[in-house]
Amino acid sequence: MQFEKFKVMQFPREVLVGHRVLGQVYELASRYARSASATIITGDITYKLAGKEVEDSLSTSGMKTSVIRTGGANSENLDKIESEIRNISPGILIGVGGGSKIDLTKKVAFDLGISYISVPTSPSHDGIASPRASLKRDNHFLSENAVMPIAIIADTSVMVKAPFRYLAAGAADVISNETAVLDWKLAHRLRGEEMSSSSAALAEYASHELLEKVNMILPGVEESVWLVVKQILASGTAMAIASSSRPASGSEHLFSHALEMQGKGSAIHGEYCAMGTVVSMYLHGGDWERIRDAFETLHLSIKAKDYGLSHEDVIKALSEAHNIRPERFTILGDTDLGRSASEKALEITGII
Ligand SMILES: [Zn+2]
Repeated sequence: MQFEKFKVMQFPREVLVGHRVLGQVYELASRYARSASATIITGDITYKLAGKEVEDSLSTSGMKTSVIRTGGANSENLDKIESEIRNISPGILIGVGGGSKIDLTKKVAFDLGISYISVPTSPSHDGIASPRASLKRDNHFLSENAVMPIAIIADTSVMVKAPFRYLAAGAADVISNETAVLDWKLAHRLRGEEMSSSSAALAEYASHELLEKVNMILPGVEESVWLVVKQILASGTAMAIASSSRPASGSEHLFSHALEMQGKGSAIHGEYCAMGTVVSMYLHGGDWERIRDAFETLHLSIKAKDYGLSHEDVIKALSEAHNIRPERFTILGDTDLGRSASEKALEITGII
């Protein structure tokens, strides 16, 4: 048989991470912009945190710079930004924000074919270095195809100012690779799904590192941000190698998405993933207690009630999570887990 395999991988051209790397923004923007102009996509708070500094350093260096301040990552905001960008036609986009602003920027970049730089202001999830965008359309959050940033500027001196909750959530999003990779291996064994061992190994390395060093993830310590962000970037690279979110998103993410879609709880993405990882690891028969203890060290609660979720909410989410992405086979299987099995797993793991 003729050899017909092929693969496409996208990586950022430059990744700057660490203390005060934001100072390099003009150099990077001018290197990759197709004309001497830039548009910054940011929010009100994130503008103050880092957006203004980006604007000042670009404009004082002679780059024509505009700023679009926007809100949540939904289709209305996306449409508004895209029509503004069509008028301005900037040489490069710069997304400055926690999650939603970067999601919007990467989607605009994808739709309009403009390169963008990702400037995360908080280390709360692995989307800062991935080609997927999470967007709300008709009240549903969907993960959509977008593009990798041409460059990432992850300034730890900026991100350390974000509340510790975001850092803990970012660590949890990486720790969730533990069950994501188990699900991938399961799909490979049972369904013959293509699996990249190098991608899986890197995703596992990232989560192992954080599980081992969880005691070193502390509030207000820039080195803790460094520790987590490095592994967020490693997770992003694992996804880039696989050309898929598979190494970092399995049953725990399906459960997380099911809860996010219910729109009832007050948790942020990484916190839902933390709950999902503990219960998924239990279903896989792995060391779920070690993962639960790690979240406890991070002061990250996995209890449904702490986020205003009822027992019914989480039972329903776990039982029906497999419907979110039926093509992504996981330990949750192809049919509803059922009420009693879901309830038991959530009770044993302490989520309800
Ligand atoms: Zn995630």
